[in-house]
Amino acid sequence: MTRIEEQIRADIVEAGRRLYARAYIASNDGNISARLDDRRLITTPKSVSKGFMTPDMMVVVDYDGKKISGERDASTELPMHLEIYRNRPDVGGVVHAHPPLATGFAVAGIPLTRAVLAEVITTLGSIPIAAYGTPSTSELPDAVRKYIKAHDGMLLANHGAVTCGPDVMSAYYKMETIEHFAKISLVARLLGGENLISREEVERLQGLRGMYGIPSPAPLCADPSEAGRDQVVCQVLEAPESGSDRLVPDVSLAIKQASRDGEIRLTYGELTALIADAVRTLKD
Ligand SMILES: [Zn+2]
Repeated sequence: MTRIEEQIRADIVEAGRRLYARAYIASNDGNISARLDDRRLITTPKSVSKGFMTPDMMVVVDYDGKKISGERDASTELPMHLEIYRNRPDVGGVVHAHPPLATGFAVAGIPLTRAVLAEVITTLGSIPIAAYGTPSTSELPDAVRKYIKAHDGMLLANHGAVTCGPDVMSAYYKMETIEHFAKISLVARLLGGENLISREEVERLQGLRGMYGIPSPAPLCADPSEAGRDQVVCQVLEAPESGSDRLVPDVSLAIKQASRDGEIRLTYGELTALIADAVRTLKD
């Protein structure tokens, strides 16, 4: 075994340990893979906890998913990984997990596409939701194909999340970023909603990517309707235009504010009590 292969196996073990330690996976969930060379991939075995793997447990497969070596079998979710490698020659590692907060957004059908945090915009851009697919069928790879050309991370409807990067650990860190972002988004929404980073500022942040040597994610769509095409090549990010402000209130927050100022909501009991009170006042 080459030193490179040893290192890749060690990285997969470590990424699995961290996924389990952070409760991004339960039981035997999740799977991790890495490119070994132009003919072979290394991937995690099925039916084992990814928190307690050893390097010798890994499965070596070809790009059609056929096993080359290993005592165990690869995950049934391997086709999703293969789809990512086929569409992204730059990708060297893929991580799939079910982190609870990000998966909550995926279950609620709420994508993480708002321009909220500078580091998320530079490292991941927007995080869309790939359509639901029955596990172990070609539906999931088909759903992932739509976004993978432009996104390094996405939510999987009613399932979890998947991330990719030049190597296993960079894909793992993107999973951490997605879960952290989901947590912050949830808290901000509980507290009344996010202020968004303006489109002008987002474009400035995108310009900084080159400085940090980040080739992806893809640029923002000039026309968001472009993203409706089959193979998405640009990203839709909710970042409102603003003449001067770098931070702008979220539109839905503004609507909430308006209704707070413009209308009064009463329960049926409160309303009848008010009428009864008015009638009494009139009689007196
Ligand atoms: Zn899964």
